[in-house]
Amino acid sequence: MKPTISLLARLIDTLAPRSCTICGSRLTVTEEVMCACCNQCLPRTGYSKSAFDNRLSRLFWGRIPIEKGAALFFYKAHSDTSRLLYQLKYGGHPELGERLGQIVAAEFAQDGFFDGITAVLPVPLARQRERERGYNQSVEIARGVCEETGLPLLLNALERITFHGSQTQKDRWERNENVDKAFHLLDASAVSNQHILLIDDVITSGATLVAVAKEVLKGNNVKVSVLSLGFANNG
Ligand SMILES: [Zn+2]
Repeated sequence: MKPTISLLARLIDTLAPRSCTICGSRLTVTEEVMCACCNQCLPRTGYSKSAFDNRLSRLFWGRIPIEKGAALFFYKAHSDTSRLLYQLKYGGHPELGERLGQIVAAEFAQDGFFDGITAVLPVPLARQRERERGYNQSVEIARGVCEETGLPLLLNALERITFHGSQTQKDRWERNENVDKAFHLLDASAVSNQHILLIDDVITSGATLVAVAKEVLKGNNVKVSVLSLGFANNG
């Protein structure tokens, strides 16, 4: 859905001005999540133009069979992109995820990234973790992607079964350990004969998505592709 500037939107903007998630400057009525300047400066990967072969796709080669892979931007710690993802993950702003999902989907669709993909599956959080946080950022991103593309959203096909207490420091973005057996396919029929797009907020080592994909690939005749907002493996 494209934003329309209604009288109501203008009124809300006047009463409760929104600010850029990255630089904090006031957003105009047409701007969403971030100001035009920050949006333009976002270090985009451009991977949707070469989705079958880029550094992110190659991260998975030899670990899982992957069709396509792309991230919206390169992620760096202590940068604009980390501020954005931190707000999404820990800032209590699920609507950020949905909007960023719409943005990434609109951009990638221009490169035909979604051609052939039949369903979207966000990386699940453990139930207890989701309750604590109030939402799952990957689900929110996936929601935005599905609104933009019309693809179905799979929410109950896979569960995350482990939870290791408070580990905010340790799992800041992604942990290699403990993630191997963290997922369990609940509904093989939901993923069978599908080309599933797995969605995460940020990809670093790829360990989480490899673990998710291995479960999803237990279905019959399944293809997987991956999409994230951030890609940290850019050294
Ligand atoms: Zn800004």
